[in-house]
Amino acid sequence: MTGEITTTSVRGEPLITRYRGLICDLDGVVYRGATAVPHAVETLNQVTAHGLPVVFATNNASRPPEDVGDHLRGLGVAQQGWSVVNSSQAAAAHLATFLAPGARVCAVGGPGVAHALTEAGLNSVRVADLDGTPVEAVVQGLGFDVTWRELAAVGHLVEAGAIWVATNVDLTLPTPHGRAPGNGALVALVQTATSASPHVVGKPQAALFDVARSRLGTDQLDTLVCGDLLGTDIEGANSAGLDSLFVLSGSSRLRDLALAEQSARPTYVAADLSGLLAPGLPLHTTSPEYLVELGPDAVPRMPSAGDSGKLLQSVVTTAWAARDNGRAISDDAGLWGEIERQLGLGQPDESTRLTR
Ligand SMILES: [Mg+2]
Repeated sequence: MTGEITTTSVRGEPLITRYRGLICDLDGVVYRGATAVPHAVETLNQVTAHGLPVVFATNNASRPPEDVGDHLRGLGVAQQGWSVVNSSQAAAAHLATFLAPGARVCAVGGPGVAHALTEAGLNSVRVADLDGTPVEAVVQGLGFDVTWRELAAVGHLVEAGAIWVATNVDLTLPTPHGRAPGNGALVALVQTATSASPHVVGKPQAALFDVARSRLGTDQLDTLVCGDLLGTDIEGANSAGLDSLFVLSGSSRLRDLALAEQSARPTYVAADLSGLLAPGLPLHTTSPEYLVELGPDAVPRMPSAGDSGKLLQSVVTTAWAARDNGRAISDDAGLWGEIERQLGLGQPDESTRLTR
């Protein structure tokens, strides 16, 4: 141990001390675009200083891990104690299990896609360099300069018999300006044109978590996943048998959490990554910290005062219990937005955060 994790709470140990390794998402958790999410960098530095290893596992395949690492250090993340794995690496690892070394694979997306294929011993070919020699597979990942010609080439290669691997199928990408099309939106475009379906390796599939956990060297029970998307990070953690912390600093909102199906429900929830340093109240409980009742509008009615972390836990567990008992829960975004305001949960770009 080279440091000591501190917390403002006097009730219980920090959540992260229950685990031996952390698999942490990036977009919407550590940064949005080029900007750090509030509290994220300080929290991560406390965690790694404590000697707990972190693997940043991202579905965003557009950049090589080294570039992501430079970005993180530029935001102030400590030099050591963590590494980055992306879905391009998971795609390349998947193909390398059955393709011969040096097999030709077409890379569509950012530099991260070709980089990962080369790193895995495969022969990466860009669409512009296709010369009629067959390729055995095509990997499609996010890239900000992907063109119509490249998307058309994916379809042509797949129809010619190439294996189609999508690094991930996230429909959206959080940016400082709001949601932008993610790789899944571009994959869907090719699917619409071809009627073919890709093999997907990113979250919520297990491949990326498997690569990350093998780096951590931890067991399932010792590993915590942190992410901002219920349908990818949290559902993936559940299918991989890992506990998870859902943070409200990214794309998914409290309303989404309240309406989540069982398969996408996290173990814990917090406003942002600093929830790792708070005690962590389990959401899968039949005994919420506070008594919360459903109003006539099918929205939880909270006590007027209380610890905001406990209120958040109580609202979510009450909503889940009601749904599981067949009662309707409102999906009105405005009503849920009001609860977020009562809890001090700002929208991503506001500075007001949940107090701890
Ligand atoms: Mg994310």
